[in-house]
Amino acid sequence: MSRTAFISHSDCWLHSMGSMHPESPDRLTEILDQIKGSGLDGLLDMREDVPQATLEQLYRAHSPAYVEELFEISPEQGLRHLDPDTAMTPHTLKAALRAAGAGVMATELVLAGTVHNAFCAVRPPGHHAERLRAMGFCFFNNVAVATRHALDVCGLERISIIDFDVHHGNGTENIFVADPRVQMLSFFQHPLYPYCGNKSTAPNMHNTAFPAGTRGDKVRELLSHVWLPALAEHQPQMLFISAGFDAHYEDDMASMGLVDADFAWISKELRQWADAHCGGRLVSMLEGGYSLPALGRSVLAHVRALADI
Ligand SMILES: [Zn+2]
Repeated sequence: MSRTAFISHSDCWLHSMGSMHPESPDRLTEILDQIKGSGLDGLLDMREDVPQATLEQLYRAHSPAYVEELFEISPEQGLRHLDPDTAMTPHTLKAALRAAGAGVMATELVLAGTVHNAFCAVRPPGHHAERLRAMGFCFFNNVAVATRHALDVCGLERISIIDFDVHHGNGTENIFVADPRVQMLSFFQHPLYPYCGNKSTAPNMHNTAFPAGTRGDKVRELLSHVWLPALAEHQPQMLFISAGFDAHYEDDMASMGLVDADFAWISKELRQWADAHCGGRLVSMLEGGYSLPALGRSVLAHVRALADI
C-alpha cells in the first residue's frame, strides 16, 4: 500500500501577521517538530515541491474579481487589514497560493494512486474564506479549491467535507451550499466566531452546534450516529477534512474539551470509512489550532491515524 503524504512548503512560514497573532508560523514549526521528533517523517511521503495554485484553480471556488482584488491590494510593506483579525503582508499571497496549491497537489497524488491519502501542513488556513471575501485568518478556501479540482478537473461526482475545527466553516458552506455534489459534515462551538451555521441552510449541510464545555464523548456520538449514516447516504468518492485542532481543551481560542485521543479516534474512524467505502481517497488540510503543544500532539495523532502507524 502506498504511503501517506505529508505536504508543506517553506513559503507557508513567511506569512506573519505580527508576533502576538495566534495564527503564526510557529504553528507549522511545532507540527514539524512533532513529526520529525517522533521519527514519523521516515514513514511518511514528505513533500515540499508544492506548486502555487493557478488562477484557474482559484476561480473554481472564488470569484475572479475577489482573487484579482487580493493581488491588487497585496502590500509591498507593512500590514493591510481585511478584517480586524486578518491582514495581508508582502508574503501572504505567496503563502496562500502554496496552501491552496498543496490541496490540489494532494488531490492529484491521491487520485493517481501515488499515495494512499495526504495531510497538508499549510497556512494560512481556509475554511472561513467565502467565495467573495477573506475573513477569520483565511484568504483562499484551500479545501474548497481542492474539492472543486477533484470534481471539475478529475471527474469525481460526489465528495464529503468533514470540518472538525471548533469554529464553523462558513466559507466552505458559502461556496458549496448550492452544490449538491458536495456534502459538508461539521461540528462547532456555538455561540462563537463566526456566529453562524447553527441554523441548517441546505440538505447537503450537516452542521452541529455544541455549547461551550462539550467534550469528546459528544463528538464521538455525533460521528457514529450522524456522520457515518450521512456518509452512507451521500456515498462520496473521496473525503476532504478541514482539520482544525482548536476544539482541544488546552486551546484558549474556544472552550471545548477534546483531548489528543479524541482527534486520534475521529481521524481513525474517517480513515477507516474511506478505506472501506471510497478506495481510501482522503485529503486532510490544516485549519485552526492555536495552543502550540496541543496542536503539535494532535496533528501527530491525526497523521498517525491517517497512515495507520
Ligand atoms: Zn478554528
